[in-house]
Amino acid sequence: MSRRDLDFLLFEWLGTDDLLARPRFREHDRDTVSGVLDLAEALATSHFAPHNRASDLNEPRFDGRVVEILPEVGLALQAFAEAGFPYAPMDAELGGAQLPGSVFIAAMSWFHAANTGTTSYTLLTMAAANLLATHGTPDQVQRFVLPMLQGRFSGTMALSESQAGSSLADITTRAEPQPDGTYRLFGRKMWISGGDHELSENIVHLVLARTPGAPVGTRGISLFLVPKYLVGPGGSLGERNDVVLAGINHKMGFRGTVNTAPVFGDGAFTPGGQPGAVGYLVGAENRGLPVMFTMMNEARIGVGLCATALGYTGYLKSLAYARDRLQGRAPGADPGTPQVPLVDHPDIRRMLLAQKSYAEGALALTLYCSRLVDDAASLDDPEQAAEAEKVLGVLTPIVKSWPSQWCLAANDLAIQVLGGAGYTRDFDLELHYRDNRLNQIHEGTHGIQGMDLLGRKVLLDGGAGLGLLLGRMATTAARAQAVGGECGAHAAQLRAMVYRLVGVTGFLGGLGDPRLVLADATAYLEATGHLVVAWLWLEQCLAADSMEGAFYDGKQAAARYFFARELPKVGPMLDLLASADRVTVDLDPDWL
Ligand SMILES: Cc1cc2nc3c(=O)[nH]c(=O)nc-3n(C[C@H](O)[C@H](O)[C@H](O)COP(=O)(O)OP(=O)(O)OC[C@H]3O[C@@H](n4cnc5c(N)ncnc54)[C@H](O)[C@@H]3O)c2cc1C
Repeated sequence: MSRRDLDFLLFEWLGTDDLLARPRFREHDRDTVSGVLDLAEALATSHFAPHNRASDLNEPRFDGRVVEILPEVGLALQAFAEAGFPYAPMDAELGGAQLPGSVFIAAMSWFHAANTGTTSYTLLTMAAANLLATHGTPDQVQRFVLPMLQGRFSGTMALSESQAGSSLADITTRAEPQPDGTYRLFGRKMWISGGDHELSENIVHLVLARTPGAPVGTRGISLFLVPKYLVGPGGSLGERNDVVLAGINHKMGFRGTVNTAPVFGDGAFTPGGQPGAVGYLVGAENRGLPVMFTMMNEARIGVGLCATALGYTGYLKSLAYARDRLQGRAPGADPGTPQVPLVDHPDIRRMLLAQKSYAEGALALTLYCSRLVDDAASLDDPEQAAEAEKVLGVLTPIVKSWPSQWCLAANDLAIQVLGGAGYTRDFDLELHYRDNRLNQIHEGTHGIQGMDLLGRKVLLDGGAGLGLLLGRMATTAARAQAVGGECGAHAAQLRAMVYRLVGVTGFLGGLGDPRLVLADATAYLEATGHLVVAWLWLEQCLAADSMEGAFYDGKQAAARYFFARELPKVGPMLDLLASADRVTVDLDPDWL
């Protein structure tokens, strides 16, 4: 990562000093923030980066009983916990430090860039702990959340089943109520990250299941806490619960994180003398999905951050290579003159500038979204806090998807910059690419995010949240117009595209046929995502305006690149949406 860029985004753009003045965060100042970022960089470099390749080459193994994982993973997680990172963003009443989420996300970018496979155990555990801290009972918090924050227990999110991936409405795992108020769970899950291992004393699964007679569809889903080992009231580990693995999945990348197919309640263990996985209801029956969304929304910013960090580190690595590697000469140069570095060639500069505009744009997007989380939690004015939450709702599918698409494209370009070397395992870029390819798939696929944005977040909401977001863009454009020059020109371009998006959104809202409306929701997601990132480049352009030095010149150049070569891609996507093209809707599957 670039510490210079993180400092710029947090302090010169997002106004983190003002944030730190709010009561919730007043224990912190610029020095503590700097200390956290220093520590993250040091720990990521010393404990996470060194085994990144080894984790890929030695993927987790399952012998039918136990999952074996490279020991360095456990040591890194222990160091992470000992440094207090899991406590950093949590509430003071849980012993947390109430560090702003935007600062925490900036710190976490170092860990993802160093080794996203190991880092994702921390992401899952912290998101599960956060969910339980928000929706769990005091007893659940005491018995499960505190050990998770101490690094003794880890967490999972167990939603998917083989027949129910994108369509959670179709999950079949059963939860049968018991006379003592607990439940017994029976069913098979699929794709569960961190589903079994020996990295922690216990694993806390957050499992979606149905109670007997629950309504069909998502309205009949409840959420349960199912530990691998039962925990006594004093916190002591008890019997093994009835959760085992059917197997593990062998992945293209992201191999450091074990991915599992857990089986609940098939009698492999008999806690209390009977089969069935003991589970505890979290929240109310049939209200599991909205509660789970606490974790999923956080995880979606986390996925965006992971994609961003992989794109960012790939960019920096290909840039270093392009500065070093001598190859060829300028067109027309004397062949007797020395070869020039790759970075001298305009085509290489194109690929570097594209990566810069994607990676730094994505970082601005993830930090902006986590700043909205901070605003929702810390603004005094309830109306302003509610607005932050609403804007975040619209941006959530975008912060998950845009970095997953464009920072993967950045990794692709980074490989290309290195030429043959980029295609070898001697360099990290092919690994970053394989790791990053997951991000368009998990946590709701790219296509599902498009339908969430257009269907739920925009049309079902009557455009209210989108209107607030576009209002923020209009404010930026007005500021840029007042500054004039290049910023003013970018502002005019942004305004014109916002105007078109509003028109197309209204058109889609009036189409009526839901199948047709959502047929090209992915184009809507990608067009809106590009528009949002163009806006954030204009914001950065303004923050860098009238500042001197290569760093600020670089910001202006990347903004210029984005407005000249990326924003124009939105036009054809909006044209497609405005044509209500039926080719995919009317297609007979036999024609394929
Ligand atoms: C490495 C990895 C880690 C994961 N970790 C976890 C985890 O920890 N916990 C967990 O619960 N799950 C996890 N998942 C599951 C992940 O969230 C699912 O893979 C994802 O939701 C897609 O489900 P699926 O694989 O069944 O694909 P499907 O749902 O079958 O989708 C296949 C394709 O069809 C498209 N599609 C599906 N439905 C529609 C529709 N209605 N309209 C249009 N297009 C549609 C999708 O966009 C996709 O392109 C993980 C997956 C992987 C690969």
